[in-house]
Amino acid sequence: MSETFHGNFTQQEAIPEEGIAAALDVLRHGRLHRYNLAEGELGETALLEQDFAALTGARYCLAVASGGYGLGAALRATGVGPGDAVLTNAFTLAPVPGAIAALGARPLFVETTEDLVIDLDDLEVKAADARVLMLSHMRGHIADMERVTELCRAKGLTLIEDCAHTMGAHWNGVPSGRHGAIGCYSTQTYKHVNSGEGGLLVTDDADLAARMILLSGSYMLYERHLAAPPKEVFEELRLDVPNVSGRMDNLRAAILRPQLSRLAERAEAWNARYRALEAGIWGAPGISLPHRPDAEGFVASSFQFLALDWPPEKAAELVARAGARGVEMKWFGAEDPVAFTSRYAHWRYAAPMALPRTDRVLAGLFDLRLPLTFSEEDCRLIARILREEIEALADRAA
Ligand SMILES: *Cc1c(COP(=O)(O)O)cnc(C)c1O
Repeated sequence: MSETFHGNFTQQEAIPEEGIAAALDVLRHGRLHRYNLAEGELGETALLEQDFAALTGARYCLAVASGGYGLGAALRATGVGPGDAVLTNAFTLAPVPGAIAALGARPLFVETTEDLVIDLDDLEVKAADARVLMLSHMRGHIADMERVTELCRAKGLTLIEDCAHTMGAHWNGVPSGRHGAIGCYSTQTYKHVNSGEGGLLVTDDADLAARMILLSGSYMLYERHLAAPPKEVFEELRLDVPNVSGRMDNLRAAILRPQLSRLAERAEAWNARYRALEAGIWGAPGISLPHRPDAEGFVASSFQFLALDWPPEKAAELVARAGARGVEMKWFGAEDPVAFTSRYAHWRYAAPMALPRTDRVLAGLFDLRLPLTFSEEDCRLIARILREEIEALADRAA
């Protein structure tokens, strides 16, 4: 009898009871807008920013309406405007090129390695064509950040990090999002903390922080922030920076705060699940796994493996066979994007580019979510199913 998996790949954990209680408080007093405060009250949004600044060691933090909004605000604050080229990973999620396109700027895609990170040799070649690098740590894979920061310094690139999949992760002890000018995080349901929608921005630069706060729609109420620069910094800018409303509200902040304090514990739980899958799939015929260097303190909320140079029919068949046994897998090689698997060639708002190394990687890239509602035993079962199906396809070919 072959085994089947019955778990749900999109079911996240419940919000902690503390978060539910804090949310009920906000609902009962009704002051959901971040600047709607009672006398002497510190709002949940401002407190969340203070908590997250402390967690990442950043001087300033701003909570916003979504991760994608945060990317746009970061780009705009660094002075990106219409027609400007912005370097970014060819392997990323659509909100990244979308945030660039929303400013009338042009995504300039950089190749992807077999370890699923930005190709630093290609970045070096393209660096002269842009002023900003929006580095996306897609699916939690972190490039050699010493090399990235050195390259950015040498080429005069401003580094913005997209940490949608690396909240709580680090490179050689430096928190992800703290290597460049601005770190951007998402608090959307499928990321590392869950408020449905939401985003966080961190920076040590007072001018950038003030610009992002003004952009987010602070209505001259920026003095109600707790992780913001002093008001003199705003006075210089407040009439120059447009209001592009994208604030977070107190309800979301209330449910996020207790999740932040559990982040380290959750990271460990995710990584134990990742290691169980990795151990189960290791050595399956024709399969390679991204190398994870010692310096990479990752948080594995998803799992990827590669079947390089397989014919597309074989890759599609693996997806179908795994799916029939309850293992819901995404494949980045499909002709047409499915759910979250669109790739750079599908983004017609960006100028077409030839990226043969990325094409080869994406054509063989499989992706699974690892919600914390799965146990380690679930992950071992998923790995057994995948290995059996991969071996069955290999035997048939032989
Ligand atoms: C989710 C995500 C974002 C931000 O997305 P929102 O849905 O706008 O919060 C940015 N980059 C990557 C790689 C993502 O996966």
